[in-house]
Amino acid sequence: MSVDVELGQIFTGPETELDSCANLDQLAGVVKACNRCKLRAGCTQVVFGDGVPSPLMLIGEGPGADEDRLGRPFVGKAGQLLDRILEVSGFDRARNCYIANVVKCRPPGNRIPEPVERLACWPNLRAQIRIIRPKIVVLLGATALQALVHPQARITRSRGQWVEKEGIWFMPTYHPAALLRDPNLKKPCWEDFKNVVRKYRELVDPNHVCEYVK
Ligand code: SF4
Repeated sequence: MSVDVELGQIFTGPETELDSCANLDQLAGVVKACNRCKLRAGCTQVVFGDGVPSPLMLIGEGPGADEDRLGRPFVGKAGQLLDRILEVSGFDRARNCYIANVVKCRPPGNRIPEPVERLACWPNLRAQIRIIRPKIVVLLGATALQALVHPQARITRSRGQWVEKEGIWFMPTYHPAALLRDPNLKKPCWEDFKNVVRKYRELVDPNHVCEYVK
C-alpha cells in the first residue's frame, strides 16, 4: 500500500486504500493484518483502538506491555489514570470518546516510536480519524503532538494551547505515563482537560455534565 501521505495531513492529501473502509470494524480488520514496519515482528498483536466513534478522540503514543497483552489501548497504570481523568471530566470510553495511538504495535522496551514507524502507521490513524470525524482531539504527549500538529513541536511549550486544523480542535497535554513519573504535571494536565470540557460544551453538548467545570 502507498504510504505517501504526509504526517498530520488528515482530510487533505491522497486517499489510501484504507479510506475505502466503510466503518471502524472493517478498518480494524485491515489494520490488524498490517506489517508495514518492523514493530509488528516484536509485538504480540496490533492494538487498534477502543471506545465509540465520538466527537471526542484521544491519541497517545503506542501500546505498552499491558496493552500488547490485552489488545486494548491504555489499560495499564497510565490507562487507569486516564480513565479516572476522563471520568471526572464526564467522559467514558464506553459511551462518549474514542482512544487510539500513533503506532498500533508495541515498540520494544516501550521506546519512543521512530519517525519511520510513525510515518508507516500514519495511514492507519488517519483512516481512523477520517471515519470517526472528531470535533476535538486530545493529544497525549509529544509523539501525538508531533504526528498531528508539527514534527518539531514540544509538549512543554504547546500543552494547554488549542490548535485548530482541518476543522478539528486539538488540545495537547501530558501523557498519563508522564503524570505517573512526575505528579507535578497532574495539575496542568487537569487544567487542559477542563478546557476540553469547555470546548466540548461549546461545540458538542452545552449540557455536558462535569461538576468540576461550571
Ligand atoms: S506499528 Fe503500525 S505500521 Fe507498523 S506494523 Fe504495526 S500497525 Fe503496521
